[in-house]
Amino acid sequence: MTEVKKIPLNKDTIVPFIEDIFLRRGSDSYLGEEVTMSEHMLQGALLAEKAGADEELVAAALLHDIGHYTSEFPEDALENGINNHHDEAGASVLSQFFPRRVVDCVRYHVDAKRYLCAVDPGYFDRLSDASIHTLNLQGGPMSEIEVIGFRALEYCEDVIQVRIWDEEGKVKGVITPEFSYYVPLLQRVIDRSCDGQD
Ligand code: FE
Repeated sequence: MTEVKKIPLNKDTIVPFIEDIFLRRGSDSYLGEEVTMSEHMLQGALLAEKAGADEELVAAALLHDIGHYTSEFPEDALENGINNHHDEAGASVLSQFFPRRVVDCVRYHVDAKRYLCAVDPGYFDRLSDASIHTLNLQGGPMSEIEVIGFRALEYCEDVIQVRIWDEEGKVKGVITPEFSYYVPLLQRVIDRSCDGQD
């Protein structure tokens, strides 16, 4: 395996850092699906773009599974240690640079699957075999109490939308832009977020 780049993460290095992960690790298989990790995440971003989503949601769709690569991040990039589930871990590494709306879409994208399975019987039928398998590991469909809690999330609708693109972005052979196409978009999202905090 190629050596991991050791660079300090800040708002100017985080996008090249993530791009490097995509380039080196993107060909990893995606949990039993017929697409690779990078194909899956790039398909999510393309679906968001085609739907006319704003830049934050395109970024969320593109990065929703970045938590599978947290071993690539320096340990201090993880607020809660490295043994988190990939949704929490991804949110943790992104939270220092991206707006909360993006972070929450990443943080709750697994919960959104559990939510949709609880409230939409047709949704479960559309899940891939691999996604059904992980659903069971993730706790199965939400309980009524969990559904109420999920509906109260500030970005509930955005989280659900990103989840739908996640589910749809598993089609073998779809042509998407390269990661580099999304670099300026990601940087704009980060710059707006970081500038807003000054
Ligand atoms: Fe995914």
